Amino acid sequence: MPIYAYEPRDAGRACPHCRAGFEQMQRMADAPLKTCPECGAPVRRVVAAPSVGSSKTSLDRRAKDAGFHQLKKLGTGEYEKTY
Ligand SMILES: [Zn+2]
Repeated sequence: MPIYAYEPRDAGRACPHCRAGFEQMQRMADAPLKTCPECGAPVRRVVAAPSVGSSKTSLDRRAKDAGFHQLKKLGTGEYEKTY
């Protein structure tokens, strides 16, 4: 499933989950999210750069700058479950 990046439309209403942007795994057929799943603030989907790797890296760095490790933790947990 593709992973889509989102960012808040109104940073003033953003919660720790969406303030620095977040990634959401969705089916291609799913409609884009309009609101943050955590706080309900309006979000917009960030159009992915052609290179998915560099886009993810910069998002991770932004998340780290915000002191927010949820994305990384979630990824590790799912990885471990497959073993
Ligand atoms: Zn939020």
